Amino acid sequence: MKISLHNQVAVVTGASSGIGSGIAKSIASAGATVIVNHSSERSVDEAKAVLKEITDAGGNGITYQCDVSKEDQVMKMFQDVVSQFGTVDILINNAGVQKDAKFTEMTIDQWNTVIGINLTGQFLCAREAIKEFLRRGIDPSRSVACGKIIHISSVHEIIPWAGHANYASSKGAIKMLMQTLAQEYGADKIRVNSICPGAIQTPINKDAWSTPEALNSLLNLIPYNRIGQPEDIGNLAAFLASDLADYITGASIFVDGGMTTFESFSTGG
Ligand code: NAP
Repeated sequence: MKISLHNQVAVVTGASSGIGSGIAKSIASAGATVIVNHSSERSVDEAKAVLKEITDAGGNGITYQCDVSKEDQVMKMFQDVVSQFGTVDILINNAGVQKDAKFTEMTIDQWNTVIGINLTGQFLCAREAIKEFLRRGIDPSRSVACGKIIHISSVHEIIPWAGHANYASSKGAIKMLMQTLAQEYGADKIRVNSICPGAIQTPINKDAWSTPEALNSLLNLIPYNRIGQPEDIGNLAAFLASDLADYITGASIFVDGGMTTFESFSTGG
């Protein structure tokens, strides 16, 4: 049994760092041509470094700067990718940010930024991807499915998170977005799923692992007793995008070292 994404084109949003870079490398190693998306000028070099790792390993792709919260930029990204590569087969909706604040001190800007990137960005990219999947139709030389979308959600899709109301709200909403799309486009053979990471070692949560004290207190929440790595998510993304996962749609899959078993109840509650 071998995961193959040969002859397929994948857009990975937020692929210049962390989980997105891990996913980009995993699906490129399975044979997909990868669009390494990032939003800012300051991450151009990081995106290029991810692409270099991909091409050095024999893979193929491009970098593409686009802010996923901006409709015109997202539409242009998909138009450009289709005109350069012919179509898009896989969307990994990964780009996300945190702007944390105690709820009564949360500004409208902190709220709108997180909802705009984490939720509206996933809506915009999914809409453009599905339009392209439907235009192309099923091509058995690529995949038995018409297209695949993987939303990167979070354990905070189900775990409330004090001090992060904007982030937790965006992830809770992704669950309904994902399931609704899976329901609406199942008959078209478009598969839509979510990966819900626990604590993965990336820049977004540096405060939670960069000192021994912080790491220790984080590990108290993880029965498997280690922090996750981007490739833990990349491995599942490659499988989920492949035809080996053809009967999986509408699912939230937790990759969290057991965090959602609620470790604090391990001594009986
Ligand atoms: P990260 O290392 O901070 O990477 C975030 C990525 O998103 C960067 O490539 C960044 O590129 C990009 N990005 C930010 N705003 C963007 C925008 N408007 N348009 C396009 N790209 C944008 O974070 P991460 O930990 O890998 O997180 C990735 C995803 O996993 C997020 O959705 C996050 O919520 C989710 N997640 C992470 C964890 C964890 O423990 N790390 C756990 C659960 C879920 P620029 O710098 O160019 O903006």
